[in-house]
Amino acid sequence: MKQLISNNQVYGFLPTDIEGVDTLAELALDLRWSWNHAIDEIWYHLDPDLWMETHNPWVVLQNVSRDQLEKLMNDQDFRQKVDEIIKLKEKSFSDPAWFQKNHLNSPLKCIAYFSMEFMLSEALPIYVGGLGNVAGDQLKSASDLGVPVVAIGLLYQQGYFRQVIDQYGTQQALFPYNDPGQLPISPLRLPNGEWLRLAINLAEHTVWLRTWQVQVGKVKLYLMDSNDPANSPMHRAITSEVYGGGTDLRIQQEIILGIGGCKLLKELKINPEVYHMNEGHAAFLVLERASNFMKETGTSFEEALTITRAGNVFTTHTAVAAGFDHFHPSLMWQFFGGYAKNDLGIDFNDLLSLGKENPNNSLENFNMAFLAIRGSGAVNGVSRLHAAVSRRLFGNLFPRWPEKEVPIGSVTNGVHTPNWDSEFADKIWTESCGKERWRGNLETLEGDISVVTDTELWQLRNTSRAKLVNYTRERFAKQMRAIAVGPEIEDILPEIFDQNTLTLGFARRFVPYKRPNLLLHDPERFIRILTNPERPVQLVLAGKSPPFDESGKALIRQWIEFIQHHNLSHHVIFLSDYDMLMAEQLVQGADVWVNTPRRPWEACGTSGMKVLVNGGINLSELDGWWAEAYTPEVGWALGDTQEHGNDPNWDAVEADALYQILEQEVVPAFYDRNNNGIPELWIKKMRNSMATLTPKFSANRAVREYTEDYYLPAANKYLKRAAKQGSMGKRIVNTKHDLRNKWDGIRFGEVSIDYVEGGFQYNISVSLNNMNPDTILIQLFADGLNGGIPEILKMERDSEPKEEAHRYHAHITTSRPASDYTVRIISNYEGISVPLEDNLIRWQH
Ligand SMILES: *Cc1c(COP(=O)(O)O)cnc(C)c1O
Repeated sequence: MKQLISNNQVYGFLPTDIEGVDTLAELALDLRWSWNHAIDEIWYHLDPDLWMETHNPWVVLQNVSRDQLEKLMNDQDFRQKVDEIIKLKEKSFSDPAWFQKNHLNSPLKCIAYFSMEFMLSEALPIYVGGLGNVAGDQLKSASDLGVPVVAIGLLYQQGYFRQVIDQYGTQQALFPYNDPGQLPISPLRLPNGEWLRLAINLAEHTVWLRTWQVQVGKVKLYLMDSNDPANSPMHRAITSEVYGGGTDLRIQQEIILGIGGCKLLKELKINPEVYHMNEGHAAFLVLERASNFMKETGTSFEEALTITRAGNVFTTHTAVAAGFDHFHPSLMWQFFGGYAKNDLGIDFNDLLSLGKENPNNSLENFNMAFLAIRGSGAVNGVSRLHAAVSRRLFGNLFPRWPEKEVPIGSVTNGVHTPNWDSEFADKIWTESCGKERWRGNLETLEGDISVVTDTELWQLRNTSRAKLVNYTRERFAKQMRAIAVGPEIEDILPEIFDQNTLTLGFARRFVPYKRPNLLLHDPERFIRILTNPERPVQLVLAGKSPPFDESGKALIRQWIEFIQHHNLSHHVIFLSDYDMLMAEQLVQGADVWVNTPRRPWEACGTSGMKVLVNGGINLSELDGWWAEAYTPEVGWALGDTQEHGNDPNWDAVEADALYQILEQEVVPAFYDRNNNGIPELWIKKMRNSMATLTPKFSANRAVREYTEDYYLPAANKYLKRAAKQGSMGKRIVNTKHDLRNKWDGIRFGEVSIDYVEGGFQYNISVSLNNMNPDTILIQLFADGLNGGIPEILKMERDSEPKEEAHRYHAHITTSRPASDYTVRIISNYEGISVPLEDNLIRWQH
């Protein structure tokens, strides 16, 4: 299976005339090294300085001197190491993984995973934050588990901005250029060696897209960019920045992602059963996939959409309505006026309706999340709480349906554990749980890790903290030198932080809803906590604010001024330019990870999950994942599980609670030691958190859940509908129309209730206006008690209809009064998902 890389397959220069360099190139171009550190020493040997500086093997390989390369390639030991790693790599491809062991004969052969950003490695900076993190970690877990995913994204000429904080605490944004030759990517070549260039139509212009491939272990990620010399300067800049520019740039990026991505798959003759939209940005794929199906089978757009949507999965990540991308109808007209007519054969207004709450409102913008929902067979939020919030946000798409039945499920995010564990944590987990521990179903991990002794766990904490302290000093010195403050930085450096001091970490995007300044609510009190001479505390902070968000930048400045004004740099350090490599250091070393979002706006949050494997403990608002993970045994919680918007009074209450938890719980638990010098209470929490939460909040668990609860059912449903030129899809559309024509003529008739032992029998007659009774469902419904899940009971049809009314009955065992119950009619045919695919509903009252 060996596929060697030659110089004309890569973008950039490679001395492939030196024997063995092609093998190294193959390794350097596989992002597996971002989580499998067995390879690190190879790159280190090639060029220690450049490796430590960049952690980018591809850059190391291209810049190492010829002499050094030749010397190493002639070194027996070095060659042997390389060969061993290649063998391991080949074995990982041939050994059956979780998917092959469990679902080999399923009809699911390919999932296409679309995302605007992927956070895979600092060597490939095409991400902003949490969303990219979820995408990147899921790809890595898909590779571990053998789930057949191909991913689609954009290659940005500049990634997200790089942050410098000047001496006044003001964030400055820099945009270094992503040189494709120095990124671990290669041109996507067709079997005949040609570089695949795609043409797509943007507002009647042909725009060329260059295509790239990224190897992520067993998974491939395909990237597109518009920086092709054949394009006009305006078009070349479409993929310049992630989330850059205004809506007219964004819509073009999203057309490239959704529509370009489908075209790319088609060119490669990849025919996925399932398309997964990681956030609504990719929703235009709904249209293109249907359009392709129309062309292949001659179906109408409505039929094609009905068939293909069964194979589409949409994951929403936002907890505020303003977070969804939406486009003005005139902008839509510019890019989709021709497309609606030529590619979909529909009226432009019908296309617009797919993205609107109210199709008759000509002023309403086109909402990408609405299109994604109307184009999917299943929708999910990213934590249980976020799913509940999303049911509220999308409720208007399902008029007269109870909020609890709005069809949004949940798959709580997880992190790719092997990517985020430290070498110290890796050792402990390997000894207790074995080398293959993150690749199976994780069932035994909780028991296995529990046998590690208190001393070992405490040692893990101490070595990890010491490493973070060193990192913080070095990094801080570097950033101070870069903004040219005087030589005194060298003098204070050794006094910054202490290896034995309780260390808090806080790092994430600096935006108001995350309340990164909550700890500053009462500066004097916080200073007392930090500088308590017997029981000191230190805090390392990091995070970027969106470049044009003055309120976010002010939050950063507030921290810098606090540190400077109170001369606190022994205890508090703000590290600039938060990125994936820094995140690794912070989550591995922090004793406590602090998170203070305003509930419910942290849809899930993932950084707190990264500390679990490393023995860090969470102190967080009960929001996102922590709302379902928290128990007093595993960490600390802020908040009363209610929503308070951005009420400043509530901020004050929570700040007070935060100080109190630190003063009365966190600090004592850390500093109260037994005779062996071990903080028993601390270790107990740490052990519980590691053992019970690490497997649960892993991307391994999330990807298995997506596979079994979403991808497999979606593949089955799609294939069933697509069979025989889509005949089932046609029946669905016909039934849908028939029901709509007759729906208003439904009449509820007489009701009778017979009380029997332990409940009652409910009878009703309904005239169905000639609808086929097999296409509907009559249900008895009662609201759940105390806000619980509603009670829903199917009513059975009496065998023979009397005249034109049908009689239905249900027997209920309950102590609730019959008046709590009401009858309703919903649609039910051909296995459609209700109300997602057909939201008709009629209530008796
Ligand atoms: C994990 C991570 C995030 C996401 O952090 P949240 O706390 O979930 O917002 C953002 N940026 C980087 C670099 C990360 O590693």
